[in-house]
Amino acid sequence: MTNPDRAAPAITELTRPFWDAARQGVLAIQRCGDCGHFNHPPREACEGCLSAKLAFEPVSGLGIVWSFTVMHQKSVAGFEASVPYLTALVELDEQPMLLLVTNLPGASAESAHIGQRVSVAFEPIGPLEDGLILPQFVLADRAGARS
Ligand SMILES: [Zn+2]
Repeated sequence: MTNPDRAAPAITELTRPFWDAARQGVLAIQRCGDCGHFNHPPREACEGCLSAKLAFEPVSGLGIVWSFTVMHQKSVAGFEASVPYLTALVELDEQPMLLLVTNLPGASAESAHIGQRVSVAFEPIGPLEDGLILPQFVLADRAGARS
């Protein structure tokens, strides 16, 4: 669901390829051309080998819930009407400890658990003229769910 009051991320030169890919419905993560290590958030130098030979590449968009918390506070702008909602760390299948901070739209404290399969889903956020698309994750039993 589009929420125009929700804060949009500040895009930098380093993070722009991530957001450009998301706009195309693709989850792309920075990867090292020398050692193959995925870096997220994106860095100036590979955290595995310090190489600067870095480029973004599409990933599967599949992973597990590594951790999550239930937000009850209404202090985050744009989320006041969403409480309670889940904020999570998702570990992507491509690499151990390749973690993304995300929401788990549609999930509740009762429906989510550590280790649960998730898949990426894309949501337009912020002012519509910015055209920002936010990759988030949904529980696998909701991914492509038949209603
Ligand atoms: Zn490397």
